[in-house]
Amino acid sequence: MHLNILVTAGDGIGPEVTGEAVSVLKEIAVQGGHDFSFTEKRIGGVAIVLDGTPLPKDTLDAALASDAVLLGAVGGNEFNALPPDKRPEAGLLQIRAALGGFANLRPAFAFKELAVNSPLRPEIVDGADILFVRELLGGLYFGQPRAWDKAKNTAFNTMVYTRAEVARVARIAFQLAQKRRRKLTSVDKANVLEVSQLWRATVNEVAKEFPDVTVEHQYVDAMAMHLMNQPRNYDVVLTENLFGDILSDESAVITGSLGMLPSATIGGKVNLYEPVHGSAPDIAGRGLANPLGAILTGALILRYSGGLEAEAAAIEASVRKVLEQGFRTPDLARGNKEGLTVLSTKDMGAKVRGTVKEQLLAVSS
Ligand code: NAD
Repeated sequence: MHLNILVTAGDGIGPEVTGEAVSVLKEIAVQGGHDFSFTEKRIGGVAIVLDGTPLPKDTLDAALASDAVLLGAVGGNEFNALPPDKRPEAGLLQIRAALGGFANLRPAFAFKELAVNSPLRPEIVDGADILFVRELLGGLYFGQPRAWDKAKNTAFNTMVYTRAEVARVARIAFQLAQKRRRKLTSVDKANVLEVSQLWRATVNEVAKEFPDVTVEHQYVDAMAMHLMNQPRNYDVVLTENLFGDILSDESAVITGSLGMLPSATIGGKVNLYEPVHGSAPDIAGRGLANPLGAILTGALILRYSGGLEAEAAAIEASVRKVLEQGFRTPDLARGNKEGLTVLSTKDMGAKVRGTVKEQLLAVSS
């Protein structure tokens, strides 16, 4: 399999963590006989300094010509005084819009070894494995009209969806559920909002194309509670932009650390893959960053852009294995460190890389 991957490492810990993700992907290529090529381009603060814009044209052109984009993180304190459209984060919003992905996938899963880092009790989170599918281009964040009328002391936004926008993201969520435990929970507020009534009716229509997937509907307020009480009850959770933003962040507590979380945005011209965390300027350049979120993001590239399920599963199993062996980056080793070995970003990457071959054999046999 040939994959042409554009790496836009960005700022802060972005280059450190994407460097480890790329090294693990290169090991997969060697072990699995694949041909992955990597091109590096600038985005964010580093591009503002060197190119005068947070998203240079050659970065965007390379992104559109690639099979997948791996983005590290953007942002830095030195850019905080700039207006919003000139800041590093503007580059991120521009590339997301240009690539056009409308389905944001965020897995939230519990690693037994990290249960101590979660504020939830181990018996509640253990075994939780949820895939959030959040609609990313519609709803309240983009709806028109929107305004803050300061003279009238009034502000408003519009939550709007078309049937087509709901159907396309629902179809992706159902297809993903078919490859998992065949359960889909659609989250809305249909007891109050017309836009949610359209959402629910459309999800029910699309559900007829997927009779092997069980569908349930939850109101978002109840879902916020159920996710913390019984996270193991959920498989694929489909929801609109605002609700998905809130619920997927809430569910980060299941994993126990921001540094562990991968994401993928699919359905557009080219899929965009990013660890969920930001550029973490407080720890940048010191070898303290946890690269596992970026490495798990690499697994999503293989799954969703390469169709390489065994290879993606091998990376995930390798991460599990190094955690089982007691290896941790500093963010995962707060409190009692007994039996744990604390590693730098590079050494953690090397541990995962060194485990991939054995795990690839295990998942393929
Ligand atoms: P952040 O995610 O960068 O950091 C929050 C906290 O988590 C910090 O204490 C940081 O040290 C820690 N952390 C984050 N990732 C880690 C990792 N991999 N390993 C260990 N610890 C980790 O969020 P923030 O502090 O709110 O934002 C910092 C900058 O990042 C800002 O400029 C913000 O705009 C930007 N940001 C970018 C993205 C993105 O590029 N997708 C997302 C969020 C924030």
